[in-house]
Amino acid sequence: MVEVFDKLRNLQEVLSEKYELQAQIDEAPKLLTSQDELLARLKKEFIEKNGEYDDSKAKVSDLKVKLAQAEAQREKAEKDMDNVATHREYETLEKEINDSKELGHTVRKELEKEEKRLAELNDTLNKCQEMIQSQESELEQSKASLDNEVTQYQAKLTSLEKQEAELSEGIDSEIIFKFKRIVKSKHNKGIVAVKGNVCDGCHMILPAQFANDVHSGEKIVFCPYCSRILYYQEVEGDEEQYYQMDDTGSLADLDDDEFADEEDFDEDEDSEEKRSDENLDF
Ligand SMILES: [Zn+2]
Repeated sequence: MVEVFDKLRNLQEVLSEKYELQAQIDEAPKLLTSQDELLARLKKEFIEKNGEYDDSKAKVSDLKVKLAQAEAQREKAEKDMDNVATHREYETLEKEINDSKELGHTVRKELEKEEKRLAELNDTLNKCQEMIQSQESELEQSKASLDNEVTQYQAKLTSLEKQEAELSEGIDSEIIFKFKRIVKSKHNKGIVAVKGNVCDGCHMILPAQFANDVHSGEKIVFCPYCSRILYYQEVEGDEEQYYQMDDTGSLADLDDDEFADEEDFDEDEDSEEKRSDENLDF
């Protein structure tokens, strides 16, 4: 039995490390989330700005056409002035010249404004593109180094699983199954000492007969309160450490508080009687 307990303690170490590694492997992709999000944001901004740029570009060429038309109109009117015959014709042409001048002036101003905006949008797009590129290469580097890390984790995991198999050898598979579940859910402690008649895992006082079973060390005993495997450990002034407990006091009275925060792992939890019966010989 001592040998089995030693194996279980070693197995506990191996399993804790394994679960920690598995958690790190599972968490790994999440480390890139913020970088992914930033990149997506930049790309969205680029698309938006690119749309604005296209609009502005169309507006500029439209204004250029309008300006050319206004100038052509003015030039034609000026040319027609040479052949003017009546005063009325003169007035009409003069008005045409003035109108087209004014229109040209307005359009030119608008065009200058739009061209300035177009240049600014062009700058913004270039900057945005640079940022996207640098963000992409940063993300690629992060992914590569993370892949590298995960590969190392996985190699370590394989070696831990080998140790796990070796340490589990010769121990009842159902005990191993329950033990693993306890280690996983109880923050790494699956095997604890009984000091006096108190479980060192949950600090509950065990029924005297139960503590005796642990003391005798003839079988694997699970704590009825926290489900951890128990082994006996000598303590100084052993007799005084024995807390007295009314054996008629039922375990059910005690289990409510203790199990309240532990139900997450005991999916097949039925009753205390079942649990006690489950303590397996091997
Ligand atoms: Zn316990």
